Amino acid sequence: MLHRPAYRRSSCLLIAGILLLGACAETPQTDPGQPTGTALPQAPSAAKPPIQVATAATPAIDFADWRQQFRDKALRAGIQPALFERAFAGVAPDPAVVRADGAQPEFTRSVWEYLEGAISPTRVRKGQALLREHAAALDAIEQRYGVNREVLVAIWGMESSFGQFMGDNSVIRSLATLAYEGRRPQFAESQLLAALQILQSGDTTPAGLRGSWAGAMGQTQFIPTTYLSHAVDFDGDGRRDIWNSSADALASAAHYLQASGWQMDKPWGFQVALPDTFDYALADSDIRKTYAEWHVLGIKGTPQGLAADDRGYLLLPAGHRGPAFLVFGNFGAILKYNNSSSYALAVGLLGASFDGGGQISGGWPKDERPLGRSERIALQEGLAARGYNPGPADGIIGANTRRAVRAFQQSLGLPADGYPTPALLQRLR
Ligand code: CA
Repeated sequence: MLHRPAYRRSSCLLIAGILLLGACAETPQTDPGQPTGTALPQAPSAAKPPIQVATAATPAIDFADWRQQFRDKALRAGIQPALFERAFAGVAPDPAVVRADGAQPEFTRSVWEYLEGAISPTRVRKGQALLREHAAALDAIEQRYGVNREVLVAIWGMESSFGQFMGDNSVIRSLATLAYEGRRPQFAESQLLAALQILQSGDTTPAGLRGSWAGAMGQTQFIPTTYLSHAVDFDGDGRRDIWNSSADALASAAHYLQASGWQMDKPWGFQVALPDTFDYALADSDIRKTYAEWHVLGIKGTPQGLAADDRGYLLLPAGHRGPAFLVFGNFGAILKYNNSSSYALAVGLLGASFDGGGQISGGWPKDERPLGRSERIALQEGLAARGYNPGPADGIIGANTRRAVRAFQQSLGLPADGYPTPALLQRLR
């Protein structure tokens, strides 16, 4: 399900001068090829905000007035005046953050290219070495939180290349910019307030509070509200330091996955083979069945560690011509970290690759490029013109668009996998 709404992508073209109508792309929200800390658009990772389509705010007031208004709110919320002044000393809006926030990438990387970058041999080797190096801490973390070490190290690798790329923007400046003139000012303001609360807790200093342009911080790329609710001091030095302490970062990720429903030693999912005649309309995250029920429909896989009543759904990351996976509750827990199926698949496969697994059998439909943003909009417009209901023509392939694609595919007698292709767009034109 390549097309969960997302609002960030790397490898983007920045389309200058276009009125910014909101969320940018589909596909992976974390681009492992472009770790945080580059100048490319990045967004918060853990605990994604709801995706909203919004126009960029044109500030009605100047920054000094906005700052005064926000200061009043912060003080009412319990922030000490002296702390506020220290955090905001010299802070002015950052034009690079405004540009990143408004980026509307035209091109989308295919899921197979994304996975190739995410599960590179270098990353796998590094993860294996870190599993050995941090074995004692990971033992203790598994015991305390009931979250398997492979998924933690995989997330660590995906989020910050194991702490190598954490972003070096001032979180206060970035979030103040976004609260003042970003596309989702209320969300940014709530994060900014949380960032001030982190400073007030004494866990770090204004200079140490660094992250991506969108405020994702440290080795786990937590946004400030997730930090407040889930960051932990695991190494016992009295500070929740997800920037400099790997133990704190891994335990914080474990705490978050635990809260998201991770179940120890259960599979996130596995690849399956489908029968020749299969109703691809069943590949829908709303259709959940036990393995036994899927098996009756002709699906074959190797379920290990599942309970008889665990229900999963069928994921076709590249449509019916690509590999198929059954995914279960732990996949949903990874999605809470970053709401992109490609991301969750990459985490699952990367984690398996540390033990020598994670290979995908069968090929990807590499002759089929992903639709660009303007093509996705054209697809939505074309579907609407034919009386389907794909939702707003925003270039985001969500549940409504996928349903409309399925209905159109069914009308043509095509496999109804809900996966839009250039050929399908051609049929609409
Ligand atoms: Ca600590």
